[in-house]
Amino acid sequence: MTHSFDALVLGGGAAGLMCAIEAGIRGRRVAVLEHSDRLGKKILISGGGRCNFTNLHCQPENFLSANPHFAKSALARYTPQDFIALVEKHGIPYHEKTLGQLFCDRSARDILGMLEAECEHAGVSIFLNTKIQQVERTTEFIARASNAEFKAPALVVATGGLSIPKIGATAFGYDLARQFGLAIREPWPGLVPLILSREDCSRYCDLAGVSAEVIASCNGQQFREKLLITHRGLSGPAILQVSSYWKESQPLLIDLAPGSEITVVFHDSKTPRNQSALRTELRKFLPQRLADRWLDAHTPTSWTNPALAALEKQVHEWPITPAGTEGYEKAEVTAGGVDTNELSAKTMEASKVPGLFFIGEVVDVTGHLGGFNFQWAWASGAAAGRAL
Ligand SMILES: Cc1cc2nc3c(=O)[nH]c(=O)nc-3n(C[C@H](O)[C@H](O)[C@H](O)COP(=O)(O)OP(=O)(O)OC[C@H]3O[C@@H](n4cnc5c(N)ncnc54)[C@H](O)[C@@H]3O)c2cc1C
Repeated sequence: MTHSFDALVLGGGAAGLMCAIEAGIRGRRVAVLEHSDRLGKKILISGGGRCNFTNLHCQPENFLSANPHFAKSALARYTPQDFIALVEKHGIPYHEKTLGQLFCDRSARDILGMLEAECEHAGVSIFLNTKIQQVERTTEFIARASNAEFKAPALVVATGGLSIPKIGATAFGYDLARQFGLAIREPWPGLVPLILSREDCSRYCDLAGVSAEVIASCNGQQFREKLLITHRGLSGPAILQVSSYWKESQPLLIDLAPGSEITVVFHDSKTPRNQSALRTELRKFLPQRLADRWLDAHTPTSWTNPALAALEKQVHEWPITPAGTEGYEKAEVTAGGVDTNELSAKTMEASKVPGLFFIGEVVDVTGHLGGFNFQWAWASGAAAGRAL
């Protein structure tokens, strides 16, 4: 059986639903084709079940992309305030948790319910359990699932990235881009916990659960947030953020006592220069077990001023080289994706293939932790939806 529409949206996640709503409101006959048995599964598990749906301080600097300017236009034309207005129209209670991050008071189900209600209002047709396996372009796009065929002059690819395969992530969006001759920036797991080498793990991983505020840096980016030790390595917001910029075999630099000088006390000649006094100082900044463990591995070679200066430097620039990441099983996002050079920044349409659009996580635009990935999904979805 063949269904005909004005536009087909592949993937009923955050970006696909927003795109369908915008196009539906403008009178387009839109179908959302979703291979799962329900819409927005990632929305439901996001933000620990409370969905960090946007960030008040959203700026282009909060995104990684080979072209840092690409996201600007869409982000400027659909802002956090636009999404907040929608949330408020639906009477959904929310709060700012920290650093501009907005979460539902109750549950992420509120956000999904709102998008479903908006789809209904906009007359969007939803097809669940519809895994698109093949797309062909004749005078129109034809998308084939095992049980049905869909036709339209416009096709929007909103199939997301590779993270969390167990809830339905597929590489279909990338395959489709390649099929139509569009370049892909090789994907990698982002916002992902890091694994330590066997040696570092045997030194630190039994402290799993211990956390501290640090500055983690890599490749010119730095984040002042919590670091958490896990059974296999490092996590916590500071590490997740920096993980998106990390490349294999590079060291991270960790400042264990941001903005403070732990050896300043030794400038006073009355303070004894020994390991016990040093422990006391470092414990002011780090949980005791972490402070002691770190000092066991970084005992100063002597107690001279230059040796203490070297230790101070180590405290602020502790180099640690992760052995790898926890991979797509645990990654909150997929970085890389459809090369932005292939797309119009205003509409998300592929310049080589009129009528073909890519939105959301499948595109090479990846947000920092804190509601930015949803803001990109809403903004890129709205940009395409308004162009259909
Ligand atoms: C655990 C977790 C927590 C997160 N929390 C937050 C948060 O609090 N704030 C934030 O901003 N971001 C968060 N994110 C990131 C955010 O969820 C994603 O960036 C966002 O969902 C991307 O939206 P999307 O629509 O591009 O892709 P998705 O939401 O992944 O949607 C893609 C859809 O396409 C469907 N699909 C795939 N292949 C096919 C096919 N061949 N045929 C038909 N359908 C197909 C999938 O089933 C899916 O429904 C979180 C991610 C994870 C994994």
